[in-house]
Amino acid sequence: MFSLRYAAAMSTKHIRTIADLVRFRASLKVECGDCGASRTLAGVEAAAMAGNCDLQRLGARLKCGRCGGRAGRLVILPPGG
Ligand SMILES: [Zn+2]
Repeated sequence: MFSLRYAAAMSTKHIRTIADLVRFRASLKVECGDCGASRTLAGVEAAAMAGNCDLQRLGARLKCGRCGGRAGRLVILPPGG
């Protein structure tokens, strides 16, 4: 009757690394802090690009394709969202 465990599994709070993204089938939306351009990466795409690393570290490494600025914001998108 309790769905807590399922709800916890679906939460994006526990997603901290690229491996977590892949495991939860979540996506990562990256927004440029300078020009506002955004790009959404599936977990597997992020893994192919950067291997497994901390999402904060990935954010620091990503560069905007439009203006060359640093990624300003990372948003974890739950599966299907
Ligand atoms: Zn930009």
